[in-house]
Amino acid sequence: MELLALPAFNDNYIWMLIQGTQALVVDPGDETPVIDVLKARGLSLTGILVTHHHDDHVGGLQGLSGCLQGPVWGPDDTRLSGQVIPVRGGDQLHWCGQSIAVVDVPGHTLSHLAFAVTAQPPLLFCGDTLFSGGCGRLFEGTPAQMHASLQRLLALPPQTRVCCAHEYTLSNLRFAQAADPTNPVLQQYHRDVEGLRAQNQPSLPSTLALERQINPFLRCDEPALVASGLAHGAASARPEDVFAALRAWKNDFR
Ligand code: ZN
Ligand code: FE
Repeated sequence: MELLALPAFNDNYIWMLIQGTQALVVDPGDETPVIDVLKARGLSLTGILVTHHHDDHVGGLQGLSGCLQGPVWGPDDTRLSGQVIPVRGGDQLHWCGQSIAVVDVPGHTLSHLAFAVTAQPPLLFCGDTLFSGGCGRLFEGTPAQMHASLQRLLALPPQTRVCCAHEYTLSNLRFAQAADPTNPVLQQYHRDVEGLRAQNQPSLPSTLALERQINPFLRCDEPALVASGLAHGAASARPEDVFAALRAWKNDFR
C-alpha cells in the first residue's frame, strides 16, 4: 500500500491511499489535485473519508462525485451533504482489504472523526484534531472534550503514522519550544523539520511515539508543561486544566 500527501490550498494535505489500481482519499477540500493523480496513474477512486465539515476538507466532494466508484464515509452531521454515509466512533469500515476504525474526536468541531487504518504500519487520519507539535483550534468543543479526544488517539499503537490535514508543524514547534523549553527531542525535531521545509518536503506523517515526546498538548502530565500551564492560568495541575491553559495561550501566541 502506498501513501501520498497531495498539497492543496496554502497548507492542506489531501491524503491518498493506493492499493493496486484503487485509491482512497481523505478530506478532499479540492478535487483538482486528486483528479490529476488518478489520471496520471490510471487509478479508480473507490472511497473517501471525511473527518469534519469544514470547506477545506469537503470542498472537492461535489467535483469528485462523477468519478467516485465507492462510498463517502463521514460524520453524522446535517452540515454535510447527502452523499456522505454517516459513521460514528466504534464503527469498523472496510476498504480494499484494509480495516478502518472510526474514532470520535470532538473538539475542533463537535462531530469531528478520526480514522485509524490497521495497516502495517498503522495509519491515523486525524483531520484538524492532532497536528504535529500541536492540535486544532476549539471552534465548537470544550478543552476537556479535546483533551479526551487526544488521549483516545494516543491510545493507538505508538508506531502509528500520524497523517494530519495541515502543514502547521513549524509554527506549532515555535509554540512548543516556548511551552517546553528544555526538551532535547523537541529541539532536534525542530531542526529536522526546518531542514525538510527548506526543501519544500512535508513534515508529515509523524508518529504517535514522536508526538508523545514533542507535542505539548499530549504532554500535559509532564512537569515542564504543568509548570507552563500553571504560569498561564491553569486552574490546577490536572492534565485537563493544563491542556486548557496551553490551548488558550497558543491562541494568542505569535
Ligand atoms: Zn477544520
Ligand atoms: Fe482544516
